[in-house]
Amino acid sequence: MSTHLTTARLSSRLTDVPPANRHEPRRAKSSTSDYSVTEFLRDFPDDAACLEHLWRTRHSPDGEHAHCPRCDTERRFKRYETKQHRQSWTCTACGHHVHPTAGTIFHRSSTSLRLWFHAMYLMTSTRCGISAKQLERELGVHYKTAWRMFNKIRNELMTEGELTSTLKGEVEIDETSWGGKPRRKFRTRSESVRFAEAKPTILGMVERGGRVRLRVIESRRGEPLSSAVRAHLDPAAFMLTDDWIAYKPLRREYAHAVINHSAGSYVVGNVHTNTIEGFFGNLKTGMRGAYKKVSRKWLQSYLDEYAWRYNNRHSGQRSMFHALVNEAARQ
Ligand SMILES: [Zn+2]
Repeated sequence: MSTHLTTARLSSRLTDVPPANRHEPRRAKSSTSDYSVTEFLRDFPDDAACLEHLWRTRHSPDGEHAHCPRCDTERRFKRYETKQHRQSWTCTACGHHVHPTAGTIFHRSSTSLRLWFHAMYLMTSTRCGISAKQLERELGVHYKTAWRMFNKIRNELMTEGELTSTLKGEVEIDETSWGGKPRRKFRTRSESVRFAEAKPTILGMVERGGRVRLRVIESRRGEPLSSAVRAHLDPAAFMLTDDWIAYKPLRREYAHAVINHSAGSYVVGNVHTNTIEGFFGNLKTGMRGAYKKVSRKWLQSYLDEYAWRYNNRHSGQRSMFHALVNEAARQ
């Protein structure tokens, strides 16, 4: 034992390795982590820090000057606590109070800002999302509170407004159904189609190298499918789908390439739907892992969460977290 230690000490002296800094662990160059939980907690240790961040993001980049709506000009503001222990900033000229949480999802919440921020951190730093059950454990809050927080974040911060632009360029489109697997093997194709159609259908559209859009649609046939495509696809976009019959009427409106899955081919040159199929694969594995069962009622909001993460995938954990906080501040 002691010889081991001596050898180790000796070799470390010989190679002259500086002792690792235990407080600043180093990341590998290939690491995709750029915002560890330690760093997050250092930035947002308490409610005051979160509130200060909102104040600066929403009203005052320098933390001191802001536009006073009552004076209708830029004024100096001072932070102070109201009689109800509410933190606010007050205009030094007219006494007008500004509450940085007003109008946001945090407003009048009985959950502390620090916990809201932590929940948003977890939602942006996990690949597949985390369950309310897990949040309940991590934050030490009631399950209902955890669920409500996630629901608010998903439904109010992660939905892509319908106003955002339509999908452009080469867009792969595919549909899949969400729900359990059949208990037995089906004998006929129509039997398996009927089983699939009883479950919610997800329409997925992805720009190659770009954004994804996911929609729960009424049916994988006819008008529900084609109107969803029309709503999200730029008229000049190039559609890539499999040979499912419901895409056929759209050929009159869009340039369209078809990969003939029923004839057993999956890639012909540039024609394939591997991006969207790969996405669906990850989506299902991830959702089953994190959320187990998701009801039809909430499916769209979970899809929005997945799409949101995918669409922000190149920006890194830190900016993803800030993108979400900014979204909250924008409201
Ligand atoms: Zn004022």
